Amino acid sequence: MTDLRVQLAQANHILFDQGVLDAFGHVSVRSEERADRFLLARNMAPVLVTPEDVQEYDLDGETDGPASSYLERFIHAEIYRARPDVQAVVHSHSASVIPFGLSSTPLRAVFHMAGFLVDGVARFEIRDVAGDATDLLVRDARLGAALAASLGQAPFALMRGHGSVAVAPSLPLAVYRAVYAEENAALQLRGLPLADVDYLTPGEGRAAAQTNAGQVARAWDMWLRLAGRHESLRSA
Ligand SMILES: [Zn+2]
Repeated sequence: MTDLRVQLAQANHILFDQGVLDAFGHVSVRSEERADRFLLARNMAPVLVTPEDVQEYDLDGETDGPASSYLERFIHAEIYRARPDVQAVVHSHSASVIPFGLSSTPLRAVFHMAGFLVDGVARFEIRDVAGDATDLLVRDARLGAALAASLGQAPFALMRGHGSVAVAPSLPLAVYRAVYAEENAALQLRGLPLADVDYLTPGEGRAAAQTNAGQVARAWDMWLRLAGRHESLRSA
């Protein structure tokens, strides 16, 4: 059992506890041994994931693990293929982010905790690649590659009518970004009706992001303890 599988199970629990994942959505991490492999839980609710539920996948979304896979594993596979800098990916349907995928109003950094958003919020429109009668799911490599192309070099992408993707150079930072993108979206929705809303400048956002990246362990340790309150679900 590698530590990375333990940490990935913890990431699942944190993202559930923080309201980013519910029964759906998933988080992955690139293998430490092979850059063309990544770790992802089998098809199950994130809060129930244990290290034994983690399977290894290649960049075609194939696994030799025994259990069934998430339909949308191609999100992860194609982003790892396109972005060598990315070490972890969170795909979620967190509620406050959804409206920004529907609207031309851009999701922008409203506070320092989400400063990383100044580096770009991409948009993925599945209709552009698969027409207007899909189930919105990124269920094959072609759609995954289109999503990765839309993401470009950004840390975050909106998926219209579906959810979002947060990526980062480490698993704790990807979790952090997914949590604070949701928080930022909730705050921006509250701020939008107010007059003269002002946003972080690119310089402010980058400076804040650099500071916060050094503080992620502090958040992770607390989030992990909070997530421990769901332990009984896993032993049930
Ligand atoms: Zn999804």
